[in-house]
Amino acid sequence: MPDEVIYLDNHATTRVDPRVVEAMLPYFTERYGNASSASHAFGWEAGDAVDRAREQVAGLIGAEPPEIVFTSGATEANNLAIKGTARAHRGQGGHLVCSAVEHRAVLDPMRRLAREEGWSLSVVPCDPDGRISPEAVAEAITDRTALVSVMAANNEVGTINPIREIGRLCRERGVTFHTDASQAVGKIPVDLEEVGADLLSLTAHKFHGPKGIGALFVRRRGARARLVSLVDGGGHERGLRSGTLPVPLIVALGRAAELAAEEGPSDAIRMARLRDRLEDSIRNLLEDQGIRRHGREADRLPNNLSLGFEGVEGEALLMAIRGVAASPGAACSSAEPGPSHVLRAMGVGERLAGATLRFGLGRFTTEGEVDRAGRLIAEAVRRLRAGGGPEGVRPSKVGHQGL
Ligand SMILES: *Cc1c(COP(=O)(O)O)cnc(C)c1O
Repeated sequence: MPDEVIYLDNHATTRVDPRVVEAMLPYFTERYGNASSASHAFGWEAGDAVDRAREQVAGLIGAEPPEIVFTSGATEANNLAIKGTARAHRGQGGHLVCSAVEHRAVLDPMRRLAREEGWSLSVVPCDPDGRISPEAVAEAITDRTALVSVMAANNEVGTINPIREIGRLCRERGVTFHTDASQAVGKIPVDLEEVGADLLSLTAHKFHGPKGIGALFVRRRGARARLVSLVDGGGHERGLRSGTLPVPLIVALGRAAELAAEEGPSDAIRMARLRDRLEDSIRNLLEDQGIRRHGREADRLPNNLSLGFEGVEGEALLMAIRGVAASPGAACSSAEPGPSHVLRAMGVGERLAGATLRFGLGRFTTEGEVDRAGRLIAEAVRRLRAGGGPEGVRPSKVGHQGL
């Protein structure tokens, strides 16, 4: 990738921190033992490394090490949480609840259970900022509800959900609560001493670790989450996820978690400042005309900026700013064209949703990059508006209302 392309797509994935790469490398070449080999030093060394990583991950989220189950990422963690809970409730269950703004890694397993295994599913709507209220969740819960799943923070518009309150009400109703915290972990404090989640998913590649490794937190203290495994084999991970442990990846996840614990708070302050600087610069250069920020009234992730540009088309805008790597508003659904289900659930009109870009900052984003990106984006919007968008929409004719 040419150097001059500015990476502002950190909700999709992040650059692996060089310190993480350094930590994992010896486990490919020198310390390559199987963590389950209990009969020799290679195995002990690998086992010790896995134990340490489990502590680092637990430390980041206020969990106990035995509550961490390593998976291939958040998609698998979500599937284990959702299908595993459904299986544990077989014969009793019947009802599942999730929010309208979930990632497809939650929505799709939920829908499959509804379609193929006789579960009924309630999808809780969000408010215009993409926020899921505890009241709306409470309304959806019935006596037959086995599981509620509400994400900690949204991957498109960055809205942070009140998962502490949602967790509390699930506990009161005796319902298992799962939260997909893929975007929250490493960006905002997530403390399972405070958040009464029974199950929580995270993935390394969203906080400067590698792709292909994540974890499901499974609560063991107090009310234990009941879960049945999806992958059976050698009984690894307390029987919840069999398969030889990918030691280098686990070491990397641990180190990324350790760095997130140490540097997450200062990263967040810096990213929020740069994120606001990016928005200010775009607004100034466009004289604040026809720009809508999604999720503007809600608590948001420090690294998220989701902007709708009136009078342009999102795809055309992305083509016009090839020097900036961002995502269209319909991100994460490239297999499913059309406006993003998140923006639609927020009540954003189809045209503005199509003219939306999502910017995601990361640990390595610099002030210079943000300034350059702001200029490129503003120039492209101005050019497209002047030439008329693909639909010939002129800024003078578009008001906030019509979109
Ligand atoms: C990235 C992401 C996932 C998928 O994680 P993988 O580790 O890539 O499977 C799930 N949920 C959310 C909210 C995400 O941002």
